[in-house]
Amino acid sequence: MFKLACGDVMPGCAARFEHADRDQLLAQVAGHAAETHGITDITPPVLALVESKLAFVA
Ligand SMILES: [Zn+2]
Repeated sequence: MFKLACGDVMPGCAARFEHADRDQLLAQVAGHAAETHGITDITPPVLALVESKLAFVA
């Protein structure tokens, strides 16, 4: 299971995501970022930051 706490990337956000598929998780996060944070352009630095916060829990 891949897990991400949005608060690790966007301080103060309580949203948490988990998905067995890494790409699906990133898609969920991208949707949340657009809706909640107004981030519609996931640039390589943003993606790298998000990926650095991804946790894999077997
Ligand atoms: Zn968030």
